[in-house]
Amino acid sequence: MAKCVMVLYPDPVDGYPPRYARDSIPVLDGYPDGSTLPTPSAVDFTPGELLGCVSGALGLRKFFADNGHELVVTSDKDGPDSVFERELADADIVISQPFWPAYLTAERIARAPKLKLALTAGIGSDHVDLDAARKHGITVAEETYSNSISVAEHTVLQTLALVRNFVPSHRYAVDGGWNIADCVARAYDVEGMDFGVIAAGRIGRAVLERMKPFGVRLHYTDIHRLPESVEQELGVTFHPDVASLARAVDIVSIHSPLYADTRGMFDEQLIGSMRRGSYLVNTARAEETVPAAVVAALESGHLAGYAGDVWYPQPPAADHAWRSMPNHAMTPHVSGSTLSAQARYAAGTREILEDWLAGRPIRPEYLIVQGGELAGTGAHSYR
Ligand code: NDP
Repeated sequence: MAKCVMVLYPDPVDGYPPRYARDSIPVLDGYPDGSTLPTPSAVDFTPGELLGCVSGALGLRKFFADNGHELVVTSDKDGPDSVFERELADADIVISQPFWPAYLTAERIARAPKLKLALTAGIGSDHVDLDAARKHGITVAEETYSNSISVAEHTVLQTLALVRNFVPSHRYAVDGGWNIADCVARAYDVEGMDFGVIAAGRIGRAVLERMKPFGVRLHYTDIHRLPESVEQELGVTFHPDVASLARAVDIVSIHSPLYADTRGMFDEQLIGSMRRGSYLVNTARAEETVPAAVVAALESGHLAGYAGDVWYPQPPAADHAWRSMPNHAMTPHVSGSTLSAQARYAAGTREILEDWLAGRPIRPEYLIVQGGELAGTGAHSYR
């Protein structure tokens, strides 16, 4: 029998939804690169249900019960007295989502001698100390591609929200105003602007493809270039490094993984090298910026706007400086947790559990750490 601790975000304040805005979600054939959607033997939920909160339990309560395993589901994850910290001591498996990350630090891993599997329901396992996981022989896995398009869509949304000055305009509408001049004094068209992504992986490339019809000039930087045919099809200009891209565009969108090379990347110097009035969008990880440099650049007007959905820590304090900085269009970390995405990563989580519990190999594209080494997607992303 295995013990699993699942750390999920709290239920909605009004309780678990009795019904939904829509009756179903679209059925997809596969992912854009041709890889298959998750293939668990079955699922015990209806796609479109809220699965990522405590009551939703990723649709896995029945699976754990039927197979005789112990399951603890909690949202209480921070501090030494938290349920997570207590239950971790004899847990074999930990499951959490980047939206409400159970930070698996080296200290916590040292206090979890039985821990063998750390599963990210979603994408991005930087909340796990991957070095410590390697040293302790813990397998780390996530559901590659499950929410990449969800994030790309949110990125386009937030880019438009910033450039068109949507958030203040919406507020005037709600508050009974009709302040056209106030709304448009900061509103522009994206058409004709230079738009660039840091990293053209699954998300970054999907963002480029979605921004192309807006008539922007596209740019990207990445460690490896896209195939020439893709560059030509998108009409996208390659930059050999982040510095070259940052000074050549009006809008930068960050899509690189968080690791040593990208931590603190958008600091005072790099932001200072951007055009005055640039926009910075970040749906990758907050720690790829220096938060105080973002605030200072918004306050001085060097950045015209900042948007994204990733913060550090998560959840951020009520007085986190990013909540009150000027001209931002931040959301909580929601882009990768639409009901559509939840159905995919919940099914993928079950697929990984079924394989792992049966001693079968986990799909390489889902692997981050295995056998004491970075493996599969992890070997590529976190190098
Ligand atoms: P991919 O692995 O498909 O793409 C990452 C890309 O980053 C790769 O093309 C890689 O290059 C490139 N890269 C790595 N290091 C650098 C660097 N130093 N400079 C430039 N490019 C670099 O990942 P995804 O697109 O699926 O996801 C990207 C990130 O988005 C995740 O790591 C995660 O942190 C975040 N994310 C956020 C979500 C949200 O809800 N907000 C949800 C899902 C993911 P190459 O392959 O050429 O070596």
